[in-house]
Amino acid sequence: MQKELTCEQVGAIITFYIEGKLSETLQKAVKHHLDICPECSAKFDAIMNMLKRGVQDKISENSDNEAQKKIKNKQYAEFKANLSAYIDNELDDRENIRIKKITISNPMARKDLEEMYAFKKLLHNSFDKTRTDLRYDFSKNVLNQMHHANATKFEISFKKLAIAYIIMLAAIIAGAIHLWLSYF
Ligand SMILES: [Zn+2]
Repeated sequence: MQKELTCEQVGAIITFYIEGKLSETLQKAVKHHLDICPECSAKFDAIMNMLKRGVQDKISENSDNEAQKKIKNKQYAEFKANLSAYIDNELDDRENIRIKKITISNPMARKDLEEMYAFKKLLHNSFDKTRTDLRYDFSKNVLNQMHHANATKFEISFKKLAIAYIIMLAAIIAGAIHLWLSYF
């Protein structure tokens, strides 16, 4: 695969890149793109920072022992557990209001919600564009392959025809010579 990746393709597979789940070639292609594209490199840094902060939040949660913090953490845990359902509008009214209240009172939850929205939008956009790009590449490949197959087929049938023609010509000449010889 010699082709360079587009920003949209990198955006769509960046999480797999971070987790090291891509093939060696793709992993290298993404790294190369991040080296030369400031936009994608900034996105990559943002995701890495988000992940790092997530780990730090967990560490500080674990080392906290105050009762008040415990209640807040419990609220926060409830918020985290319901976050994706909340974004996808899958909660009932009572739960919806509860999550909204936690979001208002807890800055950490508010930030999570904003990031989740931003991240979802980013992923959605990249995915849509990548899907179009891939579909385009795929049909182009298929067309190329079809073209190649047709060209090969044509070549083969042309060769066969030429050989048959030569044999026929040889037979006619041989017949003519035979006929000409039989006159003498
Ligand atoms: Zn880029």
